[in-house]
Amino acid sequence: MCPQYVLPNVIPDRVDCTTALALVYSVAEYCAPVWERSSHTDSIDAQLNQTMRLITGNMRPTPIDWLPYLSNIAPPDLRRKKSTSNLLSKIKANTKLPINTVLEIPPPTRLISRNPAWVADENVDLKEEWRNRWSNLAIANKDLVEDPNTKPPGYNLPRRTWSTLNRIRTSTGRCNYLLNKWNMSPDQNCDCGQIQTMHHILRDCPRRFFQGTLGDIHRCTEEALEAERKLKLFINNSQITHSEHPKYLGIHLDRTLTFKTHLTKLKGKLSSRNNILHKLAGSSWGSDANTLRTSALALIFSTAEYCAPVWEGSCHTKLIDTQLNSTLRIITGVCQPTRINWLPVLAHISPPELRRKEATKKMYQKLLDSPDLEINPILQGSQLLSQNFNISEAWTNSWISSDIPNKNLITSPSVKIPGFSLPRREWVLLNRFRTGQGRCAELMKLWGYTKDPNCACNVPQSMSHILDDCPLYKFNGGISNLHSVTPEALNWLKALPLRL
Ligand SMILES: [Zn+2]
Ligand SMILES: [Zn+2]
Repeated sequence: MCPQYVLPNVIPDRVDCTTALALVYSVAEYCAPVWERSSHTDSIDAQLNQTMRLITGNMRPTPIDWLPYLSNIAPPDLRRKKSTSNLLSKIKANTKLPINTVLEIPPPTRLISRNPAWVADENVDLKEEWRNRWSNLAIANKDLVEDPNTKPPGYNLPRRTWSTLNRIRTSTGRCNYLLNKWNMSPDQNCDCGQIQTMHHILRDCPRRFFQGTLGDIHRCTEEALEAERKLKLFINNSQITHSEHPKYLGIHLDRTLTFKTHLTKLKGKLSSRNNILHKLAGSSWGSDANTLRTSALALIFSTAEYCAPVWEGSCHTKLIDTQLNSTLRIITGVCQPTRINWLPVLAHISPPELRRKEATKKMYQKLLDSPDLEINPILQGSQLLSQNFNISEAWTNSWISSDIPNKNLITSPSVKIPGFSLPRREWVLLNRFRTGQGRCAELMKLWGYTKDPNCACNVPQSMSHILDDCPLYKFNGGISNLHSVTPEALNWLKALPLRL
């Protein structure tokens, strides 16, 4: 294994070039004057560039000319040139060495492509050469650095800050614009709506721009490192522990108010509560849908929506929504691949996102009604109020604009659908026919569980085949009668010998 791969594990928070020099460079430069002029040195340089990236925390697309400066190790080729020149001057200083007689009248070079060691310059000034090279470079933010031989500021910072600092210096980091360019993100915009380049984050972003200059960041001024500052508070001579994510009234706050920490913790909580709900359900036995729905609202939704108006605008609400979708799946008994638009309708619980909007609107209305509270109005709430937000209307609109199978069964999504008090097995079966997603042979093959997509009647067995076409099982009333759970439909469901 190449020694550099050990580095990320052994390097402590404070990365130093010493480890890299001792572990990687010593090996990479062993006898360098011998092979220095080979045309294959590129493969060594690629490895050394990787080593420097580990030290600086920079990303692969960063211009490589930045790396030697930031890791405070001269460029590999210059180091090799210097070591050859040192060797030559050492040899020439020691006149007793027999090699000197050869060097006085060197043998003729046979191939033009060969550059023997004795043609090399013996007076290489490494610092001067590097300075010249730097002044001729054409890379972004080059002006930050006057002399590449000096150590970059911030060398002693914690790892995370140090690598962020270097990504800002080189203008190459995980901003959405670049992530999108590298095909790692579908969206190139910032949460403020503009294109999120590194420059945007630093200069233009209304949410997180820095008031100083890039030079201030480069020099690691106190203002630039404000986020790293740890509070030192004393009460009765004992120091209060500094917390990055203080909890206030049940909400984990973070520095940029993205609520990522809070929502990640909440997600964990919801996941364990979903497990409890699972125990109540089961796929063919268990509580009826009314009981499950009430338990879900009391046990899971109440937790998931605690203080929702505070974090509703966060871009991490997806963490919560995936958990709530599984809650809805447990209530309705539908399969994982079922389109999520179906879930709130079948469970008769409004979509989580709309419920949060409703809560925000209600809170804003409350604030308006009690002016002596002196709380700054919430922007989101005032927008919802001015748009006259109505939860069932918003839900109906999103239902109408969606494009899902059997959509026509539902005229108004906020109305409770029939069948809530059916036994668990019939309720689950019914929902699987409504959504067209169940354990029928065709879909089981699609999901990779079985090999044969055919029904016992020898045509592909989809959910609609079983319901409408199959000579063995079909129901004469069609999907609409099944949906409204007529007595015939209930009898058919009870008698259906398939496990779907
Ligand atoms: Zn922005
Ligand atoms: Zn069939």
